[in-house]
Amino acid sequence: MLYTDLNTEIDVGASAHHVRFGPLNVLVDCGMHPKLMGYEALPKLDMLGRGTLDIVAITHAHLDHCGALPLVAEANPNAHILAGEGSGELIVRMLRNSRSVMGKQKAEYGIKEYPLYDYSSIDSLSRRIETMTNSYERSFGEDGELKISFYPAGHVFGASGVLMEHRQRKVFFTGDMCFHSTTMIRGADFPKCRLDTLVVETTRGSYDRPEGQTRQSEAKRFMESLAKIIAEGGSVLVPCFALGRTQEVFNLIHIAKASGMIAWDCPVYSSGLGLDIAETLAETTRKYTQFHFGKSCLEGVVPLREEIIPGRDFDNKGIYVLGSGMMTPNTPSYAAAAALIEHKANAIYFVGYADPDTPAARLISCPKNADFAFPELSYVGKANCRVAKFDLSSHADRSEVLRFILDRDPRCVVLTHGSYESREWFMYEIMEISPKTQVIIPEPGEEMEL
Ligand SMILES: [Zn+2]
Ligand SMILES: [Zn+2]
Repeated sequence: MLYTDLNTEIDVGASAHHVRFGPLNVLVDCGMHPKLMGYEALPKLDMLGRGTLDIVAITHAHLDHCGALPLVAEANPNAHILAGEGSGELIVRMLRNSRSVMGKQKAEYGIKEYPLYDYSSIDSLSRRIETMTNSYERSFGEDGELKISFYPAGHVFGASGVLMEHRQRKVFFTGDMCFHSTTMIRGADFPKCRLDTLVVETTRGSYDRPEGQTRQSEAKRFMESLAKIIAEGGSVLVPCFALGRTQEVFNLIHIAKASGMIAWDCPVYSSGLGLDIAETLAETTRKYTQFHFGKSCLEGVVPLREEIIPGRDFDNKGIYVLGSGMMTPNTPSYAAAAALIEHKANAIYFVGYADPDTPAARLISCPKNADFAFPELSYVGKANCRVAKFDLSSHADRSEVLRFILDRDPRCVVLTHGSYESREWFMYEIMEISPKTQVIIPEPGEEMEL
């Protein structure tokens, strides 16, 4: 098989893998880089040409995995577009939101090429998505030479790993994965067979959890910290990514309320895409076995209507679960932080990854009581409120990923979707424990025979 990583850099970036099995061309994922804008955010799609793809397999609905799908679908009108159970509708919803954000960014940042696609192309693409039932194999190619099946990957609703079998060789793409089960999503349930080639995400390769810390202990610490602020009469802002983290935070608040930690009538304010997705999932997830988001998790959740004014504390005390997770300027979480920051009864709790050059990372490292600037709001506030972060990552810990790799004993491992440092950690570990395994850190855009 011929493999090309179409990500433009050796980092998390935009996930896109081109694989050729004889005459068949497959693309696994076609994301957009979350930190870049315009054409720069796209993976190296120009290497593919038009009409060359037979199959496009999307691992999940995060935009760094599916953000460029309308472009790929349009350029490849005959390609099968495959997605895991429950993922198709989320992909469409995320793309529609992305289209709307691109419209705003066009005016704000003067990006001429935005929007890169329109609602009509998302609509036509949505009719083409073929749902892959978990573990169910489909054959492609004239003599059915390529077999493809999807397996639950944990991580977020509908996330899947993709197994491809061609001439007795099994190639597996993990996508983003999480082995832990939560009350909402079952952990990854990947094929147990021996794999020839494993293309694996390495997001958390440069980081290990401190001794004694687990995801469960972090969830407990988060709920206790929320409860303390609420009991003392403050408000808490939890900046959250829309898909996955927002629903998990609703779920944890519900658990904390059910166990009496937080008063049942404590209001939870939310808005935008995160709340939209939660409302949809509450209606639809009963039909899936690998994930579930109960209606009860939305009890007490109300749309945010209060006007947000920098420096003026919210009149309504409660928990504010708002996008974006990294407090990007011009988002509700950014504005809410400017309202809450000066009041020491309040707290801002981060529950996901914060890129070093985002306001979230700036606030996490800001000394207590120091000035904190919100340039887009022309406001500087004193960081008097409590600020903390909780590791509720939906990616597997690096020790779990390493165990998974060694367990499947592949002939070849391709390390992707992580910083160079992250990939190197895996490379050295694998080389030391299993020297016979071929380990590859792919050069962006370079085709290689695997
Ligand atoms: Zn993801
Ligand atoms: Zn990802």
